[in-house]
This record gives sequence, structure tokens and C-alpha cells, in this order.
Amino acid sequence: MTDYSNHTDQMIAAFPKLKEDVFNFDLDPDNLEFQKVFSFYKITLSENSFYGITPCFLFFRNDTSINAKAARVTDKYLVAINSGTITQLSALFKTLDTNKILPLISLDISKLGTSLNTVMLQFCYHFTFYHEMAHLIQKSEYLESGLYEIPTKKEPYDERRHLLELDADAFSAISLSEHIIQLLEDNYRVFNTEDIIDIFALLSATAFNYVLTFNSGSLDLYTYDLVHPHPIIRISYIISNILSYAAQRFGTNIITMQLKKRIISKAYMLGRIVFSQSIMTRYDKVLKENKKEIEAYISHFDNLAEGDESLALAKWNAGIKTNRKGL
Ligand SMILES: [Zn+2]
Repeated sequence: MTDYSNHTDQMIAAFPKLKEDVFNFDLDPDNLEFQKVFSFYKITLSENSFYGITPCFLFFRNDTSINAKAARVTDKYLVAINSGTITQLSALFKTLDTNKILPLISLDISKLGTSLNTVMLQFCYHFTFYHEMAHLIQKSEYLESGLYEIPTKKEPYDERRHLLELDADAFSAISLSEHIIQLLEDNYRVFNTEDIIDIFALLSATAFNYVLTFNSGSLDLYTYDLVHPHPIIRISYIISNILSYAAQRFGTNIITMQLKKRIISKAYMLGRIVFSQSIMTRYDKVLKENKKEIEAYISHFDNLAEGDESLALAKWNAGIKTNRKGL
């Protein structure tokens, strides 16, 4: 019996209703990919158990779309990743032609022991996973009914949900950035400012594509509406959190405003070449045309987040202070 089937059997014993939902990847052509993802995040969840998110079950859901869900039922935590998240993303990134951007990157990707395609694919997986883990850490009242986005469902504006989603994105952006710095430190004896620009530009370009392609990115811009922030606002918030983390980590004397601008313009350039020209152009246009409205929206939620210790980011920061994350 595999670790995954053992794990999901225990979950089904606790929640018999989930039996139909569980995706068994034994016979799937992406079997190894599923196995790797499961093992990696199962360990990550246990490494983060100090947030009080145990016992936690992680499983793939029988659903071919790209989405994930976090929930708490009685005293147990659940993360469900749709099987389509693995199947569709791995198909996309395995066939993505990255040859055109390799000469534009000074960072020696071969030192990572894997391909650029795999690195970008992992960014997407991590982003999905850390976002859901943030919902577990928030322990909000919504977690009981399960937090996830149904793109076709028109639900009335919910301020608290917007705040929780932005917080989960910020937590995810910071966890990913931390993961990347670790990757650089583990694999490069020395890395310079250009390497930092490259890796954060790559991360941002991948985030652009991921969020805007798969999360109803084509919807007209809205601010105080529905239950999720608009994808264009989400991506802008994610990137600003990635850059703030970089500044916090390397110091504002290295990550200057000018360097942040270089990271963003390189992300645009890479995104245009490797992904979709139209996605990047639309993002840029919407952002420029609605700059004031978006900034006011983000500042409204930054104010709401201030002092709210239930948020995942606040708990992450508290973890640094007490060194619980082993930084
Ligand atoms: Zn969410």
C-alpha cells in the first residue's frame, strides 16, 4: 500500500463522504508527478505543524479543473488539490518553450539540478499549496465550509473574504520567496544582484501567467465586489509582496526602488516571450488605467489587516520573532 493510499484511507475512515472525491493516481500517466507533489507537501505540512494545523489530510480531488480548497471539519484540517492542477500544469510547463528566454537569464539554471520548466512548474504548485495552507493557518470562520473559488458563481461582496484571500496570497508570495532564496543559497556558492533579479523576475512572470490564465483573469476589473479579489489586483499584490520580502531579506540598499523596477520589467519581458503577449499587455493596460482605484483598494485592505493577528501573515511574522520557523 502506498503512502498516499494509506493516508487517504485514514481520511476516508474519518470522513466517509470524501470517498467519491479522492483521486487515486496509481494508474495515471502522471503518477510520479502526483507522488512527488504529495510527498513534498505532506512533509511541508508537518514542518508547519507549529501553526496548530494538525491533524491535516492532503489529497487530490477527482476534478480536472485547476483549483484547490482548504477546510476544517470538526478538529481536522483538509487540503484538497484538484487532480487537474497537476495534470494541466505539468502538461503546460513540460511543453513550454523556454529556449528563447535562457539566453536572457544570467543565472545558471543547470546548477539547480533541474530544468527551467520544472522550476517554473514548481513555482505554480507552491503558490497553490501555500495559499491553501495560509487558509488553514487563518483558522477563519469560513474554513468550516471550505474556502475555494467557484469562478462561475456570482456571490455578493464579502469584505472579510477579500481580506482572507489577499492575506493567503501574501503568505504564499512570502513562503515562495523564502523557498527560492533557500534554493539559491543551497545551489550557488555565490549569487549576485543579477541572479536575484533573474530569479524574482522568473517567479513574477510565472505568477502573472498562472493567476491571470487560470483564475478568470479576463473578467472586467472590479474592486469591492464578489468574494475574491480580481486576479489583476491579486497578481499586483503578490508581486509587491515578493518584492517587499526581497527587500526585507537582502536590505533596501540592495533591493532599491530601481532594482524593483528592473525585476518587474524583466518579468514583463520574460512573460511576453514565454507565455502570452496578450495577457501581459492587458495586465499592463488595466493596471495603468485603474492605478488609483487599485491602490486605494489595496490600502483599504492593508489598513484592515493591520493588527489583525488572526491573519496568516501576522502569524508568519510572529513565527520569525520567536524563531519557530528555524530561520
Ligand atoms: Zn483562497
